[in-house]
Amino acid sequence: MNQEKRPYNKLVPIPFSQVKIDDMFWSKRQDVNQNVAIQHQYKKLEEANNIDNFRVAAKLRKGSHRGEFYYDSGVYKWLEAACYVLNQGKDEVLEKKVNEIVKLILNSQTDDGYINTFFSINFLEKRFSNTTFMHELYCAGHLIEAAVAHYNATGLKNLLDAIMKYADLIYSTFMEDKKKYPPGHQEIELALIKLYRLTNNIKYLNLADDFINRRGLDANSKIFILKQFLHLNSTLKESRKKGSINENENFFADLTLLERFKFYKSMLNGSCYQLRTPVREIRDPMGHAVRAMYMFSGMADLYSEKGDISLLKVLTHCWSKITERKMYITGGIGSIKGIEGFEKDYKLKINKSYSETCAAVGFLLWNWKMLQITGEIKYAEIIEKILYNSLLVGESLDGTKYSYTNPLESKGEYERQEWFPCSCCPPNIARTLASLGNYLYSTSENTLYIHQYIGSTLDCMIDGIHVKVNQESQFPWQGKVKLRISSSKNYNFNLYLRIPKWSQNTEIEINGEGYNCNSKPGTYLKILRNWSSDDSINISLEFQPILIQGNPRRKDIENKVCISNGPLIYCLEQGYNEAIDIFSLKIQEESTFSVIYKDNVLDGVNIIEGKISGEKKFRAIPYFVWNNRGPDEMRLWFDKS
Ligand SMILES: [Zn+2]
Repeated sequence: MNQEKRPYNKLVPIPFSQVKIDDMFWSKRQDVNQNVAIQHQYKKLEEANNIDNFRVAAKLRKGSHRGEFYYDSGVYKWLEAACYVLNQGKDEVLEKKVNEIVKLILNSQTDDGYINTFFSINFLEKRFSNTTFMHELYCAGHLIEAAVAHYNATGLKNLLDAIMKYADLIYSTFMEDKKKYPPGHQEIELALIKLYRLTNNIKYLNLADDFINRRGLDANSKIFILKQFLHLNSTLKESRKKGSINENENFFADLTLLERFKFYKSMLNGSCYQLRTPVREIRDPMGHAVRAMYMFSGMADLYSEKGDISLLKVLTHCWSKITERKMYITGGIGSIKGIEGFEKDYKLKINKSYSETCAAVGFLLWNWKMLQITGEIKYAEIIEKILYNSLLVGESLDGTKYSYTNPLESKGEYERQEWFPCSCCPPNIARTLASLGNYLYSTSENTLYIHQYIGSTLDCMIDGIHVKVNQESQFPWQGKVKLRISSSKNYNFNLYLRIPKWSQNTEIEINGEGYNCNSKPGTYLKILRNWSSDDSINISLEFQPILIQGNPRRKDIENKVCISNGPLIYCLEQGYNEAIDIFSLKIQEESTFSVIYKDNVLDGVNIIEGKISGEKKFRAIPYFVWNNRGPDEMRLWFDKS
């Protein structure tokens, strides 16, 4: 079965295994990911006992489970990232680590197929008894994704067979034994559909379908959730006696009384975990943003397989609500600290953005799935926004420090960390950067879509014809892109080029001759022609600093502006602006800016300079590179003068 071509999708995505990234900007990020970040994360997963728990579960070492009940998921996301790297080339050191991790996972599996170190070391008798809070199914989902990546990278079936046995156990537990409560942290749904796409085993699709459709509470649910919460606390208490640590206390210590109240209220009424409402009745995206993104991704996958239009209606409605009313200018989502989740419409606050890095990863994933379903450019536009802003900001330029939350304003209190007690974000960025090639191209019958301008070579089949594309891009510093297209024989096919909304003036040349770009910004330019063996296209997108006006329906930014240039949002760090106070800076709406590329600043970036008064200037840097020289004051939205 073709894992990419789905029955109800308009587009067929081209997987990263057919796309080689060769880009002046992103190749460096991928190199750092492979050679620094993934190594760094492995070291941290060892230090924090995430990996060692598998040794204990495999009875290779005596001891107790250490760390949180969801620690296995960090290892799985790391493994998935590492397998994506191996899929694209040899790396013997990494391969050795992958083999070691796979062996540990296999050895930790119980005879009936179960894999989860927290429960198998401490509480095997309690397994599957608290799926509201204890993340077993969430961990299982990440394990499935890792196993699919491992099989695709190596062709080996050892891990895949093991997780199919585990997935079969989950199926018999939740379908045949009629355990009817839904997963409290979504992820298993999209993973099971991924497994179905690889194996063609319909029961994995049916189980995902059931998990998605069992959401929504009845009259007894509050008591059920309360019981699960008490069960969580007693299990954690017991686990601490056995040597586990628990970060929840630190998490709560950091919350105000009001934040705690909101957290408990939304947890007990089920809205925090999207348990309250059946999925087809969701009208307002609520609760924990990462969970919501994984749930919407799973629902999108389910639509792709079964074509249930009522699911698609909810998804498109929720997407519009989020992008119009609940999203930061960076593409970041999730703004309430306590629940790590969505605020009411237009109630975002600049100085309280949460915007977890994992939420950016999940949002990217969901947008990609929506793009394949609909072929609508709006999803590709948001993907670009996320990639260059809310995702990239989550990792330092050297790959060893991360941000869990991503503020849009700082008084110097934020600092990137090498690791967190809950380190969901670092390996989530790693797996996304390693599979970046996933997000660039799609096909549809006799059409090739170019969604993102990232230097790469692509090898694909369009309508049975072998087509190669070579893309050179000067993003995100300039708007020039060059495409070379060759096909195995002269052949008429459509090329759809995304004309970004931010490019008000786009020029196109085909084989050196001007081509009328009659497409509006924010649409695909459709070029149908008989492509010969060596055609070239030059794309020149308008790339200049502009001021984005704050949404008038949002009180916090209604009279403010921020600076953008192409796909990038810019900010000011005080350290780069010693002559001025960035918090009293006002920007003139008619300001003219100059853009200077500085290869010795922050690994090479465009700096935007603007005049204030007299000789005074401000210097803005791309948002994603802020906080790379230690904590600093930072600001992104400005009053107008
Ligand atoms: Zn995270």
